[in-house]
Amino acid sequence: MQAPWVLKVQEVPTPEPGPEDVLVKIVATGICGSDFHGFSGENGRRKPGQIMGHETVGHVVRVGGNVIDLAEGTCVTVNPVLSCDDCDVCRAGNEQSCLRRKVIGVAPELTSAFAEYLLVRRSNVIALAEAVASELGALVEPLAVGYHAAVRGACSSRDAVLVIGGGPIGQAAFLAARRLGVTRVAVCDINPTRRALCAELGAAVIDPSAKALEESVVEALGAKATLVIDAVGATSTLADAMRASAFGARVVLVGMAVPSVELAAFAISTEERTLIGSFCYSRKHFAETAAWVGTTQAPLHKLIDGRVGFEGAEKSFTELAKGQSKASKILVFPGGAPQAKDQST
Ligand SMILES: [Zn+2]
Ligand SMILES: [Zn+2]
Repeated sequence: MQAPWVLKVQEVPTPEPGPEDVLVKIVATGICGSDFHGFSGENGRRKPGQIMGHETVGHVVRVGGNVIDLAEGTCVTVNPVLSCDDCDVCRAGNEQSCLRRKVIGVAPELTSAFAEYLLVRRSNVIALAEAVASELGALVEPLAVGYHAAVRGACSSRDAVLVIGGGPIGQAAFLAARRLGVTRVAVCDINPTRRALCAELGAAVIDPSAKALEESVVEALGAKATLVIDAVGATSTLADAMRASAFGARVVLVGMAVPSVELAAFAISTEERTLIGSFCYSRKHFAETAAWVGTTQAPLHKLIDGRVGFEGAEKSFTELAKGQSKASKILVFPGGAPQAKDQST
């Protein structure tokens, strides 16, 4: 990223692995909302001059001298949260909140994943099951965000779950609810393209503009929701969460649309709802999600609806940032976008 709205392909030296490091040749890296809002200058979380990219998959090409348990050629994904692993927060398993953490694709001084090569310490590299189509490894990061949100909400098979927002994190939360044994789960989104995608994943979908949300939720789930995962995070969606949920429900706030919201205080106090924050994922939840991607029958390839090479990246970022893209998850392939025949598999 050279400046807001400007991406360039530049030659940089290939990084050299230190004793604990792994050099990964990137297959594909997903464009995250935080990336394109950083690209537009909107969220201030990306700096001109840096390489972005934190949702990635690749193959091990070289390892440092102390890395003895990872063979060259192994298909891997990377947990981008580099925590200190030595503070109380890390020891409690909340690495995503470590005050000394650095995040690949965010911290300008780190090598990042919109590149041919990424250098990362061994402890953040996770081998994927051999049977997995390699590009799916780029989904582990966003899927882990949804999984962490569902686990934060103590999601169980007894729940009736409403996911608000059918973008990548909403899709991930839906899949996580299924993975945790929930049969009654619906996704609501105003965007018909996103509803169609969620329906293809097997979700009951709700158009919140069609009629009163609480009616649609009762129709879809048989009752009001006992758990709501708000993957949007705005005043209106939190109001929807209160309206569509039962007495005593848990509401997980994972979406970050705006930094502050107005809340229906009495919907929390008098009906004893619990509002739960969720951010990123712990190391454990990331690893569990990587393992799940290797075994699930869920049609994860449907989550990827755009594939570009480096030359197409700036256009994709621009369209996503301007809200002109229909795609919900576009992957950038440093080696060039795969041929159409591969996209159906
Ligand atoms: Zn992301
Ligand atoms: Zn720490």
